[in-house]
Amino acid sequence: MQISKHKVVTMEYTLTDAEGSIIDESKGDEAFAYIQGIGSIISGLEKALEGKTVGDSVQVSIAPEEAYGVRDDELMTEVPLDRFESPEMIEPGMQFHTQSPEGAARVVTVVAVKDDVVTVDGNHPLAGVTLNFSVEIKDVRDATEEELEHGHAHGEGGHHH
Ligand code: ZN
Repeated sequence: MQISKHKVVTMEYTLTDAEGSIIDESKGDEAFAYIQGIGSIISGLEKALEGKTVGDSVQVSIAPEEAYGVRDDELMTEVPLDRFESPEMIEPGMQFHTQSPEGAARVVTVVAVKDDVVTVDGNHPLAGVTLNFSVEIKDVRDATEEELEHGHAHGEGGHHH
């Protein structure tokens, strides 16, 4: 069976950056399952996997435009330190969940703390990063009605309710 829209794909993958450092990995019992064609994984990877089948290995390099987007410097903002609940705890690398002015959920990362000002970055941590995926297709099957309704795969590698 080939990967096409509404197939549940189970795969093992290793994700590395341009320097070859591992960003994420999903193997063996941790194999990852998703539904093809509904935008639940980055578009560049969906495209690369379309038409592949069980046992195929796929090596693909995905530009930021088809991954987590290019960086937007306007998402760098400065916030007064006293706006944080525990100002003494704030340090670079910390992440917070917040909302954009439009109400969308967003994760911001603290990049600097200087005097009483905190610089936060609202870009996705992988924005601007070219992603290198090494994928092995472990299983391809039809999605069930229920899975399509929920928008995610059930069972191994997927959602457990
Ligand atoms: Zn579900």
